[in-house]
Amino acid sequence: MSALKGHPKGLYLIFATSTAERFSYYGMRAIFILFLTQALLFDKEAAASIYGSYTGLVYLTPLIGGYIADKYWGIRRSVFWGAVMMAVGQFLMFMSASTLNNTELAHWLMYGGLGFLILGNGCFKPTVSSLVGQLYEPGDKRLDAAYTIFYMGVNVGSFAAPLICGYLGDTGDPHDFKWGFLAAGIMTLFTVVLFETQKNKYLFSPSGEAIGIIPDAKREKKEDKADHISHPKMDARTKIRNLIIITVLTAVLLAFFGYIFTGDWISVGIFTACIVFPVLILLDGSLTKIERSRIFVIYIVAFFVIFFWAAYEQAGASLTLFASEQTNRDILGWEMPASWFQSFNPLFVVVLAYIMPGVWSFLNKRKMEPSSPTKQAIGLLLLSLGYLFICFGVKDAVPGVKVSMIWLTGLYFIHTMGEIALSPIGLSMVNKLSPLRFASLMMGIWYLSTATANKFAGMLSGLYPEDGKVKTILGFQIATMYDFFMVFVVMSGVASLILFLLSKKLQKMMHGVE
Ligand code: GLN
Repeated sequence: MSALKGHPKGLYLIFATSTAERFSYYGMRAIFILFLTQALLFDKEAAASIYGSYTGLVYLTPLIGGYIADKYWGIRRSVFWGAVMMAVGQFLMFMSASTLNNTELAHWLMYGGLGFLILGNGCFKPTVSSLVGQLYEPGDKRLDAAYTIFYMGVNVGSFAAPLICGYLGDTGDPHDFKWGFLAAGIMTLFTVVLFETQKNKYLFSPSGEAIGIIPDAKREKKEDKADHISHPKMDARTKIRNLIIITVLTAVLLAFFGYIFTGDWISVGIFTACIVFPVLILLDGSLTKIERSRIFVIYIVAFFVIFFWAAYEQAGASLTLFASEQTNRDILGWEMPASWFQSFNPLFVVVLAYIMPGVWSFLNKRKMEPSSPTKQAIGLLLLSLGYLFICFGVKDAVPGVKVSMIWLTGLYFIHTMGEIALSPIGLSMVNKLSPLRFASLMMGIWYLSTATANKFAGMLSGLYPEDGKVKTILGFQIATMYDFFMVFVVMSGVASLILFLLSKKLQKMMHGVE
């Protein structure tokens, strides 16, 4: 695979760092809800709510982490402190699981642990993602392949983690959860050591300069000075105007979302942040017309991507219920655990990430490679097709009889093809379109769509058909599995279609970025 060869060595350091970090993230996540219900004895609803808030907030903080990195810390320092905070978080989880006989203390340690994990991820995730792009010259054709390789690293960790942390922690004895968290903690510590000891050896730009040390905002200023470029400055009046706009907008949104999600302050916060921060960035007076137009492209695509992750993230929720209750998991007399289906996706990612860069470069040579926004639309289309595939499986299913696991396996395979077309290419696109001084912040904005989607996914998962309950969405009744899956076929299908129609216009708005 020639597209996988010839990348800077730094990419493999980022690959390994991300493998270790994602191992700890997904390892902890795999046993977390079981820990809440079986060891800390939360009821199912409370546990689901803590879980949902955690996975939502983890993708909200990259906004803050991205901002701090661009302006003050620089990428290396943010990656380091992010990983350190996550290690503290994992060890607090380990301590929580070790003090089960003191319930109150165990709860406080758990909340403290989550806090550190949320803040740590905020510093780590957007910065490590934008670091990949800095290894290449702007306009380098290998960037999509680079992000796909990075994504492969992410998924090697995601694949191994639930198996190992699940094996150690989920034994049926609540006192064993601590071993799962300890394994996650050790891997985060390994992340810190690996990055700190190797960064000076491998992290260089193509011109041989050490990258990630100076904050990108400062670096851009320096480069602009050398090139005699000056950005417009904001006067005091504009600043006051912006302050008023943002204050009013925040108040209105808080009231609006507060009314919709009564009492669920985390949802209110996430949905409000999703609108306020993007607007705040656009009001920045230093943006040139072209920069603003490119940022708009990121926003529009990120909006559509919400529908991708909301449907995709059913994996941990409704699709796991479906695996457990309605899928025949019998293999030659042995019953495969329902949770194992969650490892199918990262496994498929690793395989497909190996193949896809070659496919794109094959198409590129024939001048047929789709643009980045079109690849996002293809991702959404594949998601819709995955659900359509499973619709065939459940259409004539007799109640009480489980369907073949071919259907769920096929769905995950098709979804993963979509993910590979959408997710790493999306990261690469954000990197190409962001002004340097906002490089990590824009990654934070990109991950914001995952935060919203995680919240949204939980709500949609609540439509899972249950006997004796009538559920409706936009006037449509959800009575069977077929109806339920159709919701996702239509949702991602429509989103894909609109994005396809917009993609020419978006490409124009990218002003020469491919
Ligand atoms: N599996 C990816 C990761 O953990 C997905 C991230 C996302 O954008 N939702 O990095």
